[in-house]
Amino acid sequence: AAGSGCAVAVAHPNIALIKYWGKRDEEWVLPAADSLSLTLDVFPTTTGVRLAPQAAGDRVLLGGQEATGPAQARVADFLHLVRELAGRREPAVVDSRNTVPTGAGLASSASGFAALAVAAAAAYGLAADPAALSRLARRGSGSACRSLFGGFAQWHAALDAGGGAAADRVSLAEPVPAAAGLEVALVIVVVNAGPKAVSSRAAMRRTVATSPLYRPWVASSVQDLTQMRAALAAGDLNAVGEITERNALGMHATMLAARPAVRYLAPASLTALDAVLALRERGLAAYATMDAGPNVKVLCAAGQASQVAAALREAVPQASVVVARPGPGARLVAGDGR
Ligand code: ATP
Repeated sequence: AAGSGCAVAVAHPNIALIKYWGKRDEEWVLPAADSLSLTLDVFPTTTGVRLAPQAAGDRVLLGGQEATGPAQARVADFLHLVRELAGRREPAVVDSRNTVPTGAGLASSASGFAALAVAAAAAYGLAADPAALSRLARRGSGSACRSLFGGFAQWHAALDAGGGAAADRVSLAEPVPAAAGLEVALVIVVVNAGPKAVSSRAAMRRTVATSPLYRPWVASSVQDLTQMRAALAAGDLNAVGEITERNALGMHATMLAARPAVRYLAPASLTALDAVLALRERGLAAYATMDAGPNVKVLCAAGQASQVAAALREAVPQASVVVARPGPGARLVAGDGR
């Protein structure tokens, strides 16, 4: 495709059940271990990319506001990569709108860079299938590679391939099949929608460099992933939930042991965790996971989501509670290659 010079894409955030926490290669965005996530049907990001041959440089609008500093640079670096792959030179105008709070541990960078990868590839005429787009999105934000696919997806760390360009070719996400009877929901407890004090990137870097618990968690995460795949294939929600919760708590333990400590969980997060325990004592399958922020996501059976949401609203009245279901992969909604 020549590239029409203009494209719009939509992508949804994904929440990891087996976490991505720590890179083995910063430049190529290669993770220390595989991760596995669920793409959601809420909080889409819509991103338009329009080539601007006359412009002096890339312009980035985030939520209608001109981005400057690191947020602009991160997008411009990504466009530079797309231009290199496409053999193009023109700058572009990027207009992106998140419907999720940005930088709050609700995966705005995942939906953001998945949508940007799809829209930029189309605008610059870079022929790319979902696997190639997943690999590309990874360079913008690691977790973005998983939002190329709907439902459950696994990001391969490609440790066998070593590093650099060889691993770049094979470190991407792939859909993960689950038993047909496994119908899940993710109840999102937004206790604080403000941006985090420490970015995910900085927190990961500090954890990898200083936490004595980091390596043991990576080793346990490898086992968690194998067991998670089996639990998904078997449609065993309790096993999926148990593995999800222990993997997240272990990740937060690595951060708490970093020097200085990185602590994302707030008092209201712990209140939500108590409510999840109480739900389990009442016999409901409800299991929590938390990312780089205070918000808590509760995995449960789709049929019990409204019950779980009601209990969490009551336990954490100041939070806003959103029920999400498995959602679709990133896709082009206007422009070339539709
Ligand atoms: P995650 O849960 O994946 O860590 P997050 O939103 O909680 O995501 P960060 O990883 O710190 O937080 O990433 C937030 C940064 O991602 C923003 O500061 C901005 O630079 C970038 N970003 C977010 N949304 C977009 C978007 N739609 N387009 C381009 N860049 C974005």
